[in-house]
Amino acid sequence: MPVLVMKFGGTSVATLDRIRRAAKRVGVEVAKGYDVIVIVSAMSGETNKLVGFVEETSPLFDAREYDAVVSSGENVTAGLMALTLQEMDVPARSWQGWQVPLVTTSQHSSARIVDIPTDNITRKFGEGMKVAVVAGFQGISPEGRITTLGRGGSDTTAVAFAAAFDAQRCDIYTDVDGVYTTDPRICDKARKLDKIAFEEMLELASLGAKVLQTRSVELAMRYKVKLRVLSSFEEQSDEAGTLVCDEEEIMELNVVSGVAHSRDEAKMTLVAVEDRPGIAAGIFTPLSEAGINVDMIVQNISDEGHTDMTFSCPVNQVARAEKALKAAMEAGSIAFSELVADTEVCKISVVGIGMRSHTGVAAKMFKVLSEEGINIKVITTSEIKISVLVERKYMELAVQALHHAFDLDKAS
Ligand code: ADP
Ligand code: ASP
Ligand code: MG
Repeated sequence: MPVLVMKFGGTSVATLDRIRRAAKRVGVEVAKGYDVIVIVSAMSGETNKLVGFVEETSPLFDAREYDAVVSSGENVTAGLMALTLQEMDVPARSWQGWQVPLVTTSQHSSARIVDIPTDNITRKFGEGMKVAVVAGFQGISPEGRITTLGRGGSDTTAVAFAAAFDAQRCDIYTDVDGVYTTDPRICDKARKLDKIAFEEMLELASLGAKVLQTRSVELAMRYKVKLRVLSSFEEQSDEAGTLVCDEEEIMELNVVSGVAHSRDEAKMTLVAVEDRPGIAAGIFTPLSEAGINVDMIVQNISDEGHTDMTFSCPVNQVARAEKALKAAMEAGSIAFSELVADTEVCKISVVGIGMRSHTGVAAKMFKVLSEEGINIKVITTSEIKISVLVERKYMELAVQALHHAFDLDKAS
């Protein structure tokens, strides 16, 4: 039987009623003759609640116990989904990550998938089971500890299963009906895209468009998974939603195809760092060892042998970063006069494959922001994106102004 992977995010399984609705969609695909692997998230709000419990109990928590706690939300929905399907006379059972076993690295709270053996589930399909409901976001490390794949990780579980089982398609059911030119929740002019290229989706996801986890897009690109994003709240046809596909499948490539934002950023500056070889390594090695996701980095021009080093990271990692840098200073590997954290910033990015062959996008972006009176704090660019850090209070304004200026309001 052909295999289909269907993933339901938090809002799509937020209540028993929604689980029934999702189960009905699964039933439709089973009736078409598919063996279905359903990947479920925790009920919406549940993972945030669990993360809150951990942070309140232990601010600089042991990541292994964090994973033990936050992975539990998915266990509930997996069991409930299997029960709901059974009530509909669809043969189904649930699987937690370790039962598959979905093997990951030992990088707790952001583990990577290493292996998904298919034999257990395939055997069950052979015995007449029609749906394997798998708890998303979780796995097991080589040491036998529960791991999680980072926030939004159920998307990655879904794509990895689609690759491992050579599924015909991987459908990501969520609370919007596809991928938009920007987050439809902060710009009402956002337009749904019928298709988006892997590379653009990869940039948008990594720059904050949480509709797909970045790693899921990477895996889909590498294993040529047919990946589709669609709404679990509407009746769906086979053409619904947005298809994430190769660039070659898209007729017209826009210079800018999307605007992304990442709300919870922080900017940290080490003031008066001694400017000598090895200083960048001295700063960023302890940060990486502490698991800090450093994003933008700017080093100022040196003044009398000293320089300022600025970097950005997620706002909830500031305390951890400060601890790592102060420890490095005490150990004598770096020296600085002050550590300043600005926790009121956000990152705004414009993305488009067309930027490879068009100039002037950065200049236009900066002009639009200046016309709105928005000051840019840090800038980074790559081949197909430009990102800036700005004050968080300007986030919506910046997204809307850029969306308009790059003609994304209009259908192409
Ligand atoms: P799920 O719980 O189904 O995994 P998420 O909340 O993780 O859903 O992702 C869906 C959300 O992503 C949408 O509600 C929307 O606010 C947000 N989003 C951000 N950028 C985009 C975009 N470019 N297109 C569509 N949705 C986006
Ligand atoms: N429940 C997890 C989260 O909220 C994983 C997911 O939903 O994809 O991040
Ligand atoms: Mg998600």
